[in-house]
Amino acid sequence: MDRNILFFKTGVSMYDAIVIGSGVSGASVARELSRYKLKIAVLEKGDDVCSGTSKGNSAVVHSGYDARYGTNKAHYNVIGNAMYDNLCHELSVPFVRNGTITYALSEEEVEKLQELTENAKKNKVPGVKLLNRKELEEVGGDFGAEVCGGLWAPTGGVVCPYNLVIAMCENAAENGVEFFLNTEVNHIEKEAIGYSIKTNRGEFISKIVFNCAGTHADEMNNFVSSEKLKIIPRKGNYLILDRKLSGKVKNTIFQAPKKLPGGGHTKGMVMVPTVDGTIILGCDSTDVDDKDDVSTTREGIEAVYQYFSENWKNFPVSREIPEFPKKMIISSYAGLRAHSVTDDFIIGEVKDAEGFFNMAGIESPGLTAAPAIAAELVSEVSKKYIFEINPAFNPLRKIPKQFRDMNDEERIKALERDKNYGKIICRCEEVTKAEILQAINSIIPAKSVNAIKMRTRAGMGRCQGGYCGPEIVSIISEETGIPITEITLSGEDSFIVPYETCIPGEI
Ligand SMILES: Cc1cc2nc3c(=O)[nH]c(=O)nc-3n(C[C@H](O)[C@H](O)[C@H](O)COP(=O)(O)OP(=O)(O)OC[C@H]3O[C@@H](n4cnc5c(N)ncnc54)[C@H](O)[C@@H]3O)c2cc1C
Repeated sequence: MDRNILFFKTGVSMYDAIVIGSGVSGASVARELSRYKLKIAVLEKGDDVCSGTSKGNSAVVHSGYDARYGTNKAHYNVIGNAMYDNLCHELSVPFVRNGTITYALSEEEVEKLQELTENAKKNKVPGVKLLNRKELEEVGGDFGAEVCGGLWAPTGGVVCPYNLVIAMCENAAENGVEFFLNTEVNHIEKEAIGYSIKTNRGEFISKIVFNCAGTHADEMNNFVSSEKLKIIPRKGNYLILDRKLSGKVKNTIFQAPKKLPGGGHTKGMVMVPTVDGTIILGCDSTDVDDKDDVSTTREGIEAVYQYFSENWKNFPVSREIPEFPKKMIISSYAGLRAHSVTDDFIIGEVKDAEGFFNMAGIESPGLTAAPAIAAELVSEVSKKYIFEINPAFNPLRKIPKQFRDMNDEERIKALERDKNYGKIICRCEEVTKAEILQAINSIIPAKSVNAIKMRTRAGMGRCQGGYCGPEIVSIISEETGIPITEITLSGEDSFIVPYETCIPGEI
């Protein structure tokens, strides 16, 4: 690609390609772009990558049985699912194909599952089967007495979504992509060639723009196009159960899908055994106004709590743990689906805005589908603009083994290499000071408490950071030189220490 065609203005930051947003969509696009010799920037308004929906979802790599045949959702879900083994291998991200089961409690629900089985066949989802009660037991264990059958999808899997997105961003950065955090796009103008992107940190110019702004993708599109989009944020609330239950749940288990009052359907409640050993329970589905408010709602949490209290008996885990173990709830969270009024992913070049590419309306199964969408989209764009291959592109991201996964011998060796492996900071998740320092000094540096948490799991255990939180604040401050009063939980004004007090004994 001839740079001179693209660089046409001085005094501003100029790029061949700019990606707005660093969720799973933006991260996938950035990594795909880094396969080519381009100057690429990612603009992210959060203080860290993966600041939006990609960090708060069900963590399921869907098989693709329920995405309506003929839609973008169905197409990219199935291709995306098939990419996961290789993708996670390249990025050193844990991924487990544990299979999903959608269970039925009535003949009416069995009929719904029959429809989904046929939909799965059309979508070419491998191995999907509608099982009767006996067959279901053979696959998934002893379900409750009221369960009369279930849909088995063996290619369904689980991944840690923020782990994956951070890995993709780090790999993109290793391959030359520049990340601008705390950089919010406020306006975009079409220029003679390309786009002028106005942010709180100055102007960026690029001929090609990828709009991966999640719940804000409609605003980005609407700056440049007369074909307006509308994204409705749709909230889902979750509960997390302690890692003490690790191994007790094998498959991801959904209730039969439910119709939503305003049309469409939700996959319903789901029990997910995560790759980290916790269990996720969720979620409800409610349209909201605020595109960034991921606070949990009382109604949402109550809906999840009530569902699992009443239906715990239906899940195989109830044979060993008969009652819903409410004391095992260690945390809760909420995520916002970027629901497009078209009810499908909106992908591709905007008709009246050449060089502006949308990945909008990326709601579920977006985590699964995004790598496939990005691969196809970037490949098409590369042909249109004749990108030159980057011969130095390295798809592999190597990371040190985590202390909690090391055997005794490996721990001794790690300690010999770096004495900071000898200091456990997070007791619940066995995270050492060495790992926290690695996160702070990584290619996309973690400088807030939540950024450390997403990379190391420090603060994600039973005590939820009660013990390690203050230590982590001190380590960030010491290592980066940022005053302790300016360290945040997750950027903006989420300060933790309001002012410094005197040290005991020095009064
Ligand atoms: C409750 C729930 C459950 C789900 N479960 C699953 C599941 O199990 N499996 C699955 O496959 N999918 C699931 N999904 C869908 C999946 O999470 C999303 O499709 C996916 O995370 C969307 O990624 P994204 O990158 O498009 O958006 P996001 O992750 O929201 O990323 C957008 C990024 O853009 C940034 N941004 C926004 N505006 C601006 C701006 N003006 N300037 C700069 N940056 C900006 C944001 O800060 C954010 O980091 C679920 C979604 C929800 C809400």
